[in-house]
Amino acid sequence: MRQVGVHGVVLGASIGGLLAARVLADSYQQVTVVERDLLPRVSEDRRGVPQGRHGHGLLAGGALALEELFPGLLDDLVASGTPLLRDLSECRFLFGGHPVCHASYPLTPAAYQPSRPHLERHVRARVRALPNVEIVEQCDVVGLAHSDGRVTGARIVRQGQPEETLDADLLVDATGRGGRTATWLPGMGYPAPLEDQLVVDVKYVSQRLRLAPGALGNQKLVLVGAQPGRPTNLALFAYENDEWLWTVAGYRGHHPPTDLEGRLEFARPMAPAGVIDALRDAEPLSEVSTHRFPASLRRHYERLDRFPPGLLVLGDAVCSFNPLYGQGMSVAALQALALRDTLADGDHELARRFFRAAAKPIDLAWQLAVGGDLALPEVDGPRPLPVRVINAYMDRLLTATEQDSVLAEQFLRVTGFIDPPTKLFHPAVLRRVLAGNLHRRRARAPRGTQQCADATIGFPVLPD
Ligand SMILES: Cc1cc2nc3c(=O)[nH]c(=O)nc-3n(C[C@H](O)[C@H](O)[C@H](O)COP(=O)(O)OP(=O)(O)OC[C@H]3O[C@@H](n4cnc5c(N)ncnc54)[C@H](O)[C@@H]3O)c2cc1C
Repeated sequence: MRQVGVHGVVLGASIGGLLAARVLADSYQQVTVVERDLLPRVSEDRRGVPQGRHGHGLLAGGALALEELFPGLLDDLVASGTPLLRDLSECRFLFGGHPVCHASYPLTPAAYQPSRPHLERHVRARVRALPNVEIVEQCDVVGLAHSDGRVTGARIVRQGQPEETLDADLLVDATGRGGRTATWLPGMGYPAPLEDQLVVDVKYVSQRLRLAPGALGNQKLVLVGAQPGRPTNLALFAYENDEWLWTVAGYRGHHPPTDLEGRLEFARPMAPAGVIDALRDAEPLSEVSTHRFPASLRRHYERLDRFPPGLLVLGDAVCSFNPLYGQGMSVAALQALALRDTLADGDHELARRFFRAAAKPIDLAWQLAVGGDLALPEVDGPRPLPVRVINAYMDRLLTATEQDSVLAEQFLRVTGFIDPPTKLFHPAVLRRVLAGNLHRRRARAPRGTQQCADATIGFPVLPD
């Protein structure tokens, strides 16, 4: 990779910042990452990432992007106890009210399921091992340094020290959803980006647990999404050291309680068989944590005509999605790949080229998350015809996944950023969707009550 500058500085050492540092290390002689927190050496929650106490899934496309940036990382995770899901039968999914078929069927690629603190620790260790990267902890970023319309560094305060300026050829803001670049730009004479928001007001309530051995058989992941009329969610992730993380969540007006009995009652109407008993018998390993997420929020940096040279923004600071779709870390990883590919062509018009490239995975994630939320009448927002048509089709597709593990896997590959959404509209997929819906109508079984069939019976074959 060609060198484009001497000093790259990244603000924030969470997933987005660490991945940005990894990329800059190939193009800048020296990279400094500035982080407000004291970073743990073990897999532990920390103040700057409060969401780490809640269930985090790593989508397949995000896992592959991480592996591209850090070859061998996924094997390291598994070797250190991260569960690996190779087969659909290890998952219980209920999406939009449809229990997805859990007949045995290989997941390609396999899914990696690290807890959030464990993943961050491994990524951080990889970044620390890079010879030209330094992470400065307990250091607060208070503003940008700029001259003649160009960003020249960051104004920082190390613990107990006076403010100083850290010079940079390139500064990447990865300080998360609360990142202040958008508010700093007007002070430099640049416009702030337009914002899109969809208010969801989701509340998470989570706890780490140890389940009784074999309580859920071979299952490692239970995910129950919201459905019209029941805007609540349930998730149970198997993580390292035989620990599980149990999350219940609900949209505005349907927030979960925090006491155990209340959470069990909240989960009962949506829990697959055996889950409530497993939760009731489980040993608590942590306090109960709560998190309130107000709205999906997107800042359209890619639409700005003018943006200061020397500055980029990445990760949640650009776009933070309703976390129930599990996309944020994976989209940050895909943005990091976009940054790598943009820098490969040098640093001319870097911001314009980067924001356009990064907008591609963001567009897709935004469509999936916002489109999914707009399928719920409980979420307020405009529903143009294409959104209604696609959501009606997705309901038919999910109906068919109740019986069809091939279709279920295809759905997971698209929502996991492996395949493009067009795959779900391929004629062979449309035929399977039709066959699945006719099959159910003929069987006259009420919604969600049939057993999954052998994936190959009576369904058209999917293209490669
Ligand atoms: C409840 C919840 C559940 C989620 N579940 C999932 C999931 O299942 N899957 C998934 O992929 N994503 C999930 N996400 C999203 C995911 O956590 C984020 O997308 C991910 O952390 C990437 O964010 P980031 O690195 O851009 O910012 P953040 O993780 O927010 O990190 C920002 C960093 O900047 C530091 N910082 C902030 N301000 C300053 C400052 N002034 N000076 C110095 N340092 C500063 C912070 O300490 C922190 O380290 C979830 C989010 C929430 C809220």
